[in-house]
Order: sequence, then C-alpha cells, then structure tokens
Amino acid sequence: MKGNLWDSSAPAESALLDVLVYRSRLLGADPDLVLWGGGNTSVKTTEIDFRGRERRVLRVKGSGTDLKSIDRSGFPGLYLDDILPLRDHDDMSDEEMVAYLEHCVVEPGGRRPSIETLLHGFLPARHVDHTHADAVIALTNTERGEEAVRAALGDGVAYVPWRRPGFLLSKQVGALADSEAVVLGNHGLVTWGNTAEQSYSKHIGLVERAEAYLRTLAGRTPAVTARPLESPALEPLLLQIRRELGHRILRFESGAEFRAISDRPDVRQLAGAGPATADHVLRIGPWSCVIDGESPAAAIEAYRQKYREFFDRGAWEGLEMLDPSPRVFLIPGRGMVTSGWNARDAQVVAEVAFHTLKIAAEGQDAHGSYQSFSDRDLFDAEYWPLELYKLTLAPPTKELEGRVVLVTGAASGIGRAVAHRLASLGAQLALIDIDPAGMEQTALSIGQAGDAPPLCIRADLTEQGDVWAAVRHTVRTYGGIDGLVSNAGIPAAGRLTDLDSELWRRSLEVNTTSHFLLTAHVMKMMTAQGLGGSIVYVASKNAFGPGAGFGAYSVAKAGQVQLARIAALEGGAAGIRANVVNPDAVFEDSKLWSDEVRRQRAAAHGVPVEQIEDFYAQRNLLKTKVTGRDVAEAVAFLLSDRSRATTGTVIAVDGGVAAAFPR
Ligand code: ZN
Repeated sequence: MKGNLWDSSAPAESALLDVLVYRSRLLGADPDLVLWGGGNTSVKTTEIDFRGRERRVLRVKGSGTDLKSIDRSGFPGLYLDDILPLRDHDDMSDEEMVAYLEHCVVEPGGRRPSIETLLHGFLPARHVDHTHADAVIALTNTERGEEAVRAALGDGVAYVPWRRPGFLLSKQVGALADSEAVVLGNHGLVTWGNTAEQSYSKHIGLVERAEAYLRTLAGRTPAVTARPLESPALEPLLLQIRRELGHRILRFESGAEFRAISDRPDVRQLAGAGPATADHVLRIGPWSCVIDGESPAAAIEAYRQKYREFFDRGAWEGLEMLDPSPRVFLIPGRGMVTSGWNARDAQVVAEVAFHTLKIAAEGQDAHGSYQSFSDRDLFDAEYWPLELYKLTLAPPTKELEGRVVLVTGAASGIGRAVAHRLASLGAQLALIDIDPAGMEQTALSIGQAGDAPPLCIRADLTEQGDVWAAVRHTVRTYGGIDGLVSNAGIPAAGRLTDLDSELWRRSLEVNTTSHFLLTAHVMKMMTAQGLGGSIVYVASKNAFGPGAGFGAYSVAKAGQVQLARIAALEGGAAGIRANVVNPDAVFEDSKLWSDEVRRQRAAAHGVPVEQIEDFYAQRNLLKTKVTGRDVAEAVAFLLSDRSRATTGTVIAVDGGVAAAFPR
C-alpha cells in the first residue's frame, strides 16, 4: 500500500464536499485499497431543500463511479431524516431498499446512490470511509478470521462475518458505532471520524497494521521458489486459448509479481479458492483456470464442467446460466492470461485477478490455510439480482467487439478512415505503418472518440522480418488475429518507355509482394487459431481499368487482386475469407495523391491540375467524389459476419466507372 498521502494540498475541513473528493481520490488511487468502482465514502452536511428548509443531507458515492477519478457530481445527496427511521425496520429486500432510497434523494432522477448507502447513513460520524483493502481481506479470509483481526488490529475494532451488502449489513454496522472501526469478513474495512483527516488516517493506519501483521506471520513459512521458464513459444498457447473462448481479447502478464503467483506449487489451490471479495466475482468469475501440462482445451473444458455443476447446485427456477468459460488463466512458468471484450476489459480483469490471487497467497502464507466464500455465498455473489440488473443496462456488444484486426497504411487517407470505422464498431486494432507520427495521430483520435485505443507497430512491410515481427507482436498483445485490412500502397507514375526500372520493382514490392508477405503470416496464425478470419485488400479501380502512364501501379494492383483470389482458394477450408475493395480517386487526407502525382495524372488526362478532383468526380457514373468513409464502409461489411458467405470477390467503391466494372 502507498501509505498515508494526506498533505498540505488538502482542502479546508470546512469545505465538506471538497475534502470528501480529496480523500476519496487518495483512497481510489491505491489499487491495494480499491479497484475499479469498489469502495465508497461519504460526508453528512446541511443543505437547503426545495422548500427552503435547512435539512441534514448524506452525500455518498454514486453507483457506477470510480473513487480515483470522482468529482463533486459523483456524490448524490439523500435526506437523513428520511433515511434514519429505517433503523427501526427488521429487514428489507434489496428491491425495497432501492425503491425507498429513490424517495430520499436530493436530486430526483440523478445518479443512483451506492448499494452501501445505508451503512454510511446509520453511522452517526460526519465522515465515513469504506474500502476493500487487500491486507484486511487477507486477514479475514481464513477459518479464524475474527481471531486474526483481533490479533492484528486489537480489540477495539469490531468484526462482522461475511454478509452480502444490503439492509441487514448496514444495520449491523450502524450498531457498532461505539467501536474504533469495523472489519467486514471477506469484504473490507469501515472507518469514520468527525474530520475527514481522522477518518482517512485511521483507515490507512489500520491497513498498515494489517500488512505488518501479515508480514510477521509470513516469515514463518518457507519461501516459495519460482519455476524456470520451460513452456514452448507463447503464440501457439494464446491461439489455443482463443480457439476455445472465441472472439475475445486476451492479455498476457509475465511480470515478476504475476510469476510469483503462477509459479507457486500451490497454484491450483489458489486458483480454486474463489475471489477474495464479492465485487471481484463480477469481473473475474468464481475461479481461475490453471494450464499446466494439459492442453488449454482440456483445462477449459474441465473448468466449464465445474461451473455447470456449480450452477446446477445453486440455480433457482428460470435462472439463466452466465458464460461458463474462465476469464483468468494461470500458466506455471509463464504468468497469467486474462480475457475481455476489449483490451481495457482484459486489463481490468488482470488487475482484479492479481489482487484476488495476491490476497489468497498472502492469506495462505500467513495462516497456513486460506478460505474464501462458501459455495452458496459464491453463487449468491455471482447471481446477485441487483448486479444481474446492471448487466441488462449495459450497452449491447458492438458488431466487431472481441475481434482483433490489423490495418496497414493507417497513418493517412483510406487506412485512417478504415481504422476509425472499425474501431467505432468495437474492433481491437493493431495499426501498421512506416510513418509513426501519422499512425500515432490516427491512434490518438480513435482514443479521443472513446473507442479502444489501438496498438501501433512501425514496420516496413516489404521486409519479411518486419512483417513476421508485427504479426507476432499483435498475437502476443491481443491473443490472436481475426481480420486484416491490407491497404498500404504507393503511387508509381510514368509511361513504359521512360519508366525507371527501379520504380517498377519498388511498386511491385510495395503494392503486391508486401501483401503476399502479410497474407502468408496472418493466414498461418488464423489457421492455428481455428476461428476463421477475413482479409480485405484495398486495391484500386486501376486493377480492372488501368491508366496510361500508370503502368507500374496498375500491374501491381492487378497482381494484388489475383493474390486475394488465391488467398480465398487456399483459405476457404479454414474459414478464412479474402475479398477486395477497389476505390478510385480518394483524395481526402491521402499521401498517395502527392502534388507530383496530381500533376502527372492531370497531364495524362489533359486537365488543369487544380481541376483534377472534379475531373475524377465527373468521369464516374454517379458524378460523386469518393471518400475514405465510403471505402471504410465496404471494408467493414467484408470484415463482419454480415458477409460470412462472401469470398474471392471485389466491391468497387469508385462512383461507378464502367471501364473498371469487376470481372
Ligand atoms: Zn464494499
């Protein structure tokens, strides 16, 4: 843990909401205390209500906010004189409690307050802090959790065994206001104070004591020796995991802290011990899957079988089973692999899994035994109706979510437009270009649009070594490859009689051979992965309707189309589709249309150079200027399952050029 971070930049205690935001962010910034939306904080203030009356108000963290980035708007208000009478109730279901709290809010229709709201309301102190601190959970998750809490934190701290958050837990904690603080078994810590600093400092102090206690105990057990790296290459392993999981993004972690877990001799025990606390279940599922010796397929099937039995034991009439697949994989000698719908998801899963497993390891080392939830409590956490309700509110999965797509020539023009479109459909992209600055700009604007930030790989696609490295890098980063947009190209103008032979060779290298190299390596990965795939080549109207004075380009583009057909022939059996998009005259943001090429093409067509764009628009049947977005739409269609029965074909995106109709 980072320790006590309170410093002179703290707002004055009298600025109640500001000092609440300040200490919430301090707590939220430490992943050993709080992870992704976990934990909550509050303050009790006095505000003027809508009728001009002065009333006491509880400001508590809202549902779906994150402490590390929270601001004042993240704390909905509730009238305390509406909340406090609830202390006389014996019990309340989650639904009744949520419905009741809707009547108490200061801002109707605003953010929903945390499910742990009443716990804050029932404690009389002005400031209340609650986290899921790793060290505290490592203390409690053992057969003798209460004893360990007393030994580590003293008798002044009250202990409440595991109970799911809700009305009863809040009432129980509210009744313990005379103690120094409350530890919640399998869950976390609650502290309070009359100043914000008191509550915060008590919180940090108790977690430090828990950490120190665990360290003294851990010294008694022998140190664990890490296993040497012995497994085969990483990529085949990731591809095999993905073959079983389907379209998901994988993340591989091999840092020392992950190896310290994956390489322990008791790794299977830790993996099966269950999550450290209930809100981890939603992210990482009930257990981790160990792959050690057996095939990934066998390990995953065994996990699913265990999950189905777990579901059958706990399910009630009409309950639908969630995805039974593991999300966390521990691979002795290698580290950890996690899965998600995009790279960020997979990263969150990795962080949460790391903390759950670290707590289990610490608990095991300190107490000699580790105990998480009972089977029943675990089931109730996984199928908690309030959380299932949240899932129904989540936006639907996007069309290309979970897919990994490589886009070449992504630093400008068509490649950039394609990257934007695919990212907006949820694809996790790896961009490849020889121009890092332009590519970074594409990546930056994708992130700014709110889509998954892509991986950027600088490569010379005419170099076999670069191509192979780029493909491997993509698989290591995301676990596999589902799509390729082979787009990078260069112009090459000049009549045959005075064409420089070097330029001719260069055009074939970049506009044909580089596509072959990429196709070969991507098809190998796709075949090993066994999930099919889609390759889209961005060729040109010139492939079918060549231009005089543009031979080196037109011949190479015709070769690219033929390459696509061979890829379709050879990839079909593995479910790999290969298709072509033929654009014409896409000027916007294009590096291909340099001033020189504009001049050359204008001369070839006998028009003034400033009219070249209009000339191209006028020569097509629709009299339209073709844009990168038009091309991107066709590419997106060919990459998606909407075109699942289409391979070996060409879509022209040229406004209609009769001389270049596909044939
Ligand atoms: Zn909690």
